[in-house]
Order: sequence, then structure tokens, then C-alpha cells
Amino acid sequence: MHAQDPSAQSLIDLGKRYWLPVYRPRDVVLDHGKGARVWDTQGRDYVDFGAGIAVNALGHQDPDLLEALTTQAHKLWHTSNVFYSEPPLRLAEELVSASGFAERVFLCNSGTEANEAAIKLVRKWAASQGREADKRVIITFRGSFHGRTLAAVTATAQPKYQEGYEPLPGGFRYLDFNDVPALEAAFALGDVAAVMLEPVQGEGGVLPAAPGFVQKVRELCDKHNALLVLDEIQSGMGRTGTLFAYVQDGAKPDIVTLAKALGSGFPIGAMLAGPKVAEAMQFGAHGTTFGGNPLAAAVARVALRKLSSAEVLANVARQSQALRDGLQRINAELHLFDEVRGRGLMLGAVLNEANKGKAGAILDHAAAHGLLVLQAGPDVLRFVPALNISDEDIAEGLKRLEAALRSFVAG
Ligand SMILES: *Cc1c(COP(=O)(O)O)cnc(C)c1O
Repeated sequence: MHAQDPSAQSLIDLGKRYWLPVYRPRDVVLDHGKGARVWDTQGRDYVDFGAGIAVNALGHQDPDLLEALTTQAHKLWHTSNVFYSEPPLRLAEELVSASGFAERVFLCNSGTEANEAAIKLVRKWAASQGREADKRVIITFRGSFHGRTLAAVTATAQPKYQEGYEPLPGGFRYLDFNDVPALEAAFALGDVAAVMLEPVQGEGGVLPAAPGFVQKVRELCDKHNALLVLDEIQSGMGRTGTLFAYVQDGAKPDIVTLAKALGSGFPIGAMLAGPKVAEAMQFGAHGTTFGGNPLAAAVARVALRKLSSAEVLANVARQSQALRDGLQRINAELHLFDEVRGRGLMLGAVLNEANKGKAGAILDHAAAHGLLVLQAGPDVLRFVPALNISDEDIAEGLKRLEAALRSFVAG
């Protein structure tokens, strides 16, 4: 925001005064959006390459999502899971059918809740196999991010998210991502119930699983009677160019978690359970008040249909290439990145040695030049725009990025 705008400043002051100080937003107060553009309270427009952290996968104010939401809003807002309503029933059927592996679905409100459900399901399943509590270890990988609730943050193998929250729940073991020998050694201990991973690590730096790694994990899980849990909260819903990233990895999971783009801006999460675990939790074993909320489910049904479409998935491939080409072109002159990595429209530009730790500063320059982008840690710029973003918006976003990076370089 601009210092001369008293209304935006007074709003920002409310956040600084009243919010738990766990966030440090850029000084921009967003007011409305359309497609891949958003406007602040001063009427300044931004190209949105962040999409609310990979959430607004169909951009802002998608007419079909808007219609689904308003139609449902005039019918029924909430029932709790004490009664049925149509939208979550249909959504569950559609998710099972789209997944190619799942038999049942648990609907919830966020990513961390989907992962909590997955962790609990692993434990319940292992218990049903007669395994003692110390033989229900879940392996996760350094650099992962699985959420902020206590079990999910313990699954998140990054100390910065855990510090001060000890005692943490037990039963997790951390390994280096893509390290097959370490995984084999960890399985050899004979106590592993599941391996949980993101096909592309998001918060940890937009780092894809190495080719063949997910398949290898699947193989080891099968050999040792363990479950493969894929956290597709960020990589799912078309983000990497297929509805789910695991399709490209050629591995069938036992459990998949979704959130972020599932509601494309309306909060909803889901845990999909395959045949081994679909019956492991029975009546009373888990639950939620809001999960499967009819408003959320009505929106998610439309999001799922649109994000599965050949048209959107083809656009992901096309704009991924355009964004990569643009980033390489900018870098050929400005020499800021070591590499551009990721899959589909989940791309990371890894800052080189001279610019390590500067992602936050670059984001400030970007906002000042009318571009919203994200970081994934201090060293990686993260690009996760709407999956239906147009050629024009990609081009305009790149133009603004180039201007922002030039001003960053100029100091
Ligand atoms: C965002 C994210 C989560 C947590 O989701 P919330 O909705 O913030 O709880 C978990 N896993 C991955 C991979 C994520 O990107």
C-alpha cells in the first residue's frame, strides 16, 4: 500500500494491533479480484501469481463457482454430519471416481485437518493389524510441510515449525527427501507403518520427488506392509498438470490428502482412503462439525469438474512452459537464480548464492510493481498462479516481475 492512503494504513494498524502476531503480511490491503488480477483498496491492480497460496486455482470470481456458492447459499448452509445433504455426498462420489484408487472420503475444513485424519487413520489401521504402539512409525521427509496442528507439525520435518511446541507426539521418523538407501535402512528397523510425502514439496522450496522415488517408496511400503500417504494439498487439483501429481509418478497411494485448491477459495479439505484403510476407522472413531459443509462441498464439486477438464490441464502445461521460458529469459540477463524447478504451475526459482535469504525483499519489490508472488522459504520464489491464467496475464506478470527484479538489483 502507499503511505498516503490513510484508510489502508488504518486497516493495517488493526491487524498489527489485534491479530496474534504470527503473520507478517505485505502492506497491501486487497479489496476485490477477477480472474488472475486483484485490486487493493486504492484501486491499484496486481497480477496474482500466488493465488492465495495455490488456492484460487480458477482465479477470482469464477462465474461457475460463484453460481454454485450462491445457489447453495439460498438452500442450506450447514447440517453437521448428524444429517445428510446432497453436496458432500456427490462430492465424495466424484472424488472417489476421479482418484482412481480411493474407496471412501473424509471431508474436513483444511489441509492440516486432512493430514491429522490421515495420521490417525494410519495409526488405527496399524492397531487393527495388531501392531504395538511403538511399531506404528510414520516416516516423513526433511523440508516437508504437512500443517500446523500438533501431529501435522510433528510430521513436518522442519525444526523452525516445531520449536517451542514440545512435547511433540511421538512415532515420526525424519529422512532426507529422495534418499532411497536411508529409506531402506529405516524400513529395516521393522517398525514402519507408513511413509508420508508431498510429490512436490511446496513450502520446503518447490522441490519435486526425484524421478522414480515415489514408485520406490510404494515398492518398499508393499514389501514391509506399510501405507503410502501422499500429501497433495498443494500439488493436487491439477496444479502439476494432472488432476493429482501421483498419476505422473506412476504410484498408487493408500491415502491422499487434499485442501487448498479443492474449494478454489472456499475452505475445504479431504482425505481419500484406498481399499486397505477405507474400513479401518469405524463409527465414532473420528469426526468434525463443519467438514462436508454443503456450501464448501457445492463449490468443490464445481472446482473438481473444472480443474479436471482437458482445457484447464492443457493450459497448465502451456503456461508452465511460458512461465519457465520467461523466468529463464529474465535470469539470462539478471543472474539471480540457480535453477527454475517444479512441475506444471507449481514452479520455484531458486536464488543463487549472492541472493540467498532475499526472497522476502524481492516480494516487496514485486508488490510495489503490481505483482503478487510467494516465497517458499527465504531462498526460493514460488509461482503458483491460477490454473486457467491467460497468456496475457502470464506475459504481464513476467513484465512486472522483470521490472521488480531490476529495481531489486538496483538496490
Ligand atoms: C498448505 C499445506 C498444508 C496445510 O494446509 P492448511 O489448510 O494450511 O492447514 C499441508 N500440506 C501441504 C503440502 C500444504 O501445502
